[in-house]
Amino acid sequence: MTGEIRAGACEVCMAVCIHAMRDERVVKVADANWVEIRNCRACGAYWDMQPGSYPVVITFEEALKRAPGLEDWIDCSTVSSRPNGRLG
Ligand SMILES: [Zn+2]
Repeated sequence: MTGEIRAGACEVCMAVCIHAMRDERVVKVADANWVEIRNCRACGAYWDMQPGSYPVVITFEEALKRAPGLEDWIDCSTVSSRPNGRLG
């Protein structure tokens, strides 16, 4: 693998998803058995982290296929990531 920027991705999410950096602009939007989807708020890219394999950039449609209910998860993620997120 080279260090090139992937199609549909930017430096921010490349750093987070491939080089394990931390950046609040890249959020986990789905997390279930064998599936972890991340969304980059900087460029809008979706990532399938593929545990045991190599992270890949996917489309939103692809993300929905891999993680049914993704939109719900996005909503949950948005709420829980707020410092003063209300519960119930
Ligand atoms: Zn990005």
